[in-house]
Amino acid sequence: MNRLRRAIMQTSAATAMLASLPPGLRLVQAGDKSVNLYVDDHLASYGFPDGHPLGIDRQGAFLREAVERGLIEHTTRRDSREALREELVRFHRDEYVERVFTAEEKGVRLLDDGDTPVFPGVYRASAHVVGAALDGLAQVMDGHCLRSLQPIGGLHHAARGRAAGFCVFNDLGVVIETLRRVYDVQRVGYLDIDVHHGDGVFYAFEDDPDLIFADIHQDGRTLYPGTGRAHETGKGRAEGAKLNIELPPFSGDAEFMEAWPRIEGHFEAYQPEFFIFQCGADGLKGDPLAQLEYSPAVHGHATRRMVMLADKFARGRIMAFGGGGYDRANLAHAWNAVLGELAG
Ligand SMILES: [Zn+2]
Repeated sequence: MNRLRRAIMQTSAATAMLASLPPGLRLVQAGDKSVNLYVDDHLASYGFPDGHPLGIDRQGAFLREAVERGLIEHTTRRDSREALREELVRFHRDEYVERVFTAEEKGVRLLDDGDTPVFPGVYRASAHVVGAALDGLAQVMDGHCLRSLQPIGGLHHAARGRAAGFCVFNDLGVVIETLRRVYDVQRVGYLDIDVHHGDGVFYAFEDDPDLIFADIHQDGRTLYPGTGRAHETGKGRAEGAKLNIELPPFSGDAEFMEAWPRIEGHFEAYQPEFFIFQCGADGLKGDPLAQLEYSPAVHGHATRRMVMLADKFARGRIMAFGGGGYDRANLAHAWNAVLGELAG
């Protein structure tokens, strides 16, 4: 723990040093390999009690491995902030944000049908997940750092008006809406390699022709949330802009690699101006909630190729979010494979 604290303090010192430089000196271009890393106590506190698989020890498991591998030294650690109500409602319904805000005082026990319990500080922790993502986005759009990783984030099941599958606020959805409304970036590429289908993002933008969506996951007939069938390719003007790839249970690296060229071809065809990468670690072999059998090489490969695509089409702009992953060793290995590639 001491080593961990020291590493964090050192990266904080680096952040402070950078902050004292004139902003112009920090502007970066595609190919620059600095990475903003979002880890702090608020983010760590996003987790559920009583042995719930999404516990509060996941960030720590990642961070210990990042320190161990020396990767932490290639990052700039940044703190989260609490997203404002006006930011949350860019994606979520106001009524739903209010429901989460008052859930604790009203003694509400569950935010959905059973997967997402109310926990102490649920609003604050959830709003910090979104606030970190928005800080990361501002950093990228202001040209301070083109790549970021937020291990506790990527809450892709939350819908506009309800929690789902351990996800309270959908940080990814808020980032997409913010890109459009605040930064005037329309064509956004979204890749999701979490073992579960990113239904909260998919259905919110199903008829949006500029959300270029690719999601590879365990066949929904065998796993929560049951969606993401191959024939779901977008609605109306968005027909074709969405790619869902289903893998049968027990598929591993070979099946992922075989499918990968379709994902890359999808992004090559639509050429997004910005990339979001949900790199859930629950597709790795041994995850207690799912049945795919990836190794961390999948995360390394996907990140390497996404960085290439971002450099090619999106001026290097890519934000990665941890998503699911319930075996602590697996998530540490998968997310550090992502960090290793982001940091070059
Ligand atoms: Zn998942």
